[in-house]
Amino acid sequence: MTTPSPISAGLRLRCPQCGRGEVFSSYLKFRDHCRGCGADFTKADAGDGPAVFIVLIVGAIVTPLLIVLQFGLQLPDWLALSITMGAAVILCLALLPPFKALLFALQWKHKAREATHEDVE
Ligand SMILES: [Zn+2]
Repeated sequence: MTTPSPISAGLRLRCPQCGRGEVFSSYLKFRDHCRGCGADFTKADAGDGPAVFIVLIVGAIVTPLLIVLQFGLQLPDWLALSITMGAAVILCLALLPPFKALLFALQWKHKAREATHEDVE
């Protein structure tokens, strides 16, 4: 069995070990194990990483959008803000699962885990 690239597995929401089984049982909840290879996902924890990346990416997209809508097209403030906020919410909800799976796949590949006192000694 070949291990898929973490980018490919993560963006396709697939297992970082086999690339077949789905990593989520619901919107952002990890499965306990892979249905393809049985890999244990119980220690999966991407933390706040995906949200941080999403905020940066979505902010970089919707900020110019707001400027164009408000100053370029001169839409009323309430309409420009409504379009921008709607776009921000939709983009955040759409990008969170693939980024969470991507960071989990990168953690899996590099065997990243929370640091302990044994790591310092
Ligand atoms: Zn698997």
